[in-house]
Amino acid sequence: MASKIPANLQEDVRLRAKFLCEYCHAHEIWQHIPFTIDHLIPVIAGGTDGFDNLALACFHCNRRKSDRQSAIDPLTGETVLLFNPRQHQWSEHFVWSVDGLLIVPLTAVGRATCELLEFNRERVIRIRRADIEVKRHPPADDPIQLTPTE
Ligand SMILES: [Zn+2]
Repeated sequence: MASKIPANLQEDVRLRAKFLCEYCHAHEIWQHIPFTIDHLIPVIAGGTDGFDNLALACFHCNRRKSDRQSAIDPLTGETVLLFNPRQHQWSEHFVWSVDGLLIVPLTAVGRATCELLEFNRERVIRIRRADIEVKRHPPADDPIQLTPTE
C-alpha cells in the first residue's frame, strides 16, 4: 500500500467500523495483529485516502481483496462487484449461520465476496468456535439465521 493514512483518520475508520473487519466481521480486539485500512477503490485505480474510500479490514481480507473490486459469483459464474461497506449493508448480503460459525451469503455480491475472501475457512471457523464459547461472537448487532439452510 503506497499511501500513508494519517493516524487520526485511521482511528476514525476504526471507530466507524466498531473495530470489526468490515468484510468478515472479525473483531480487532481479539486479534493479535492490528487490522489494516483497505481502499475500496484501490490507489492504483485512482482511489483516494478520503474517509469514504476507506474501510477497516483484517489482514486476511485485505490481502485476499488486494486490488480487486469485483469477483466471480460461484453460483452463476458471473463477475459481480465485491461487497463495498460504504455502499452496501452487511446484513443485506450476509447472515450468520444458526450456530454462528459460518457467514451465509444472501446475494451474488455476498457469494462472490464470501468465496474470494475465504470467509469460512477452517482456521477462522475454529477461532469463531472458541469465541462463541466465551460469548464474544457473533457481533451483537449482526443478523443470525433462525433456521438452518441445509
Ligand atoms: Zn476480515
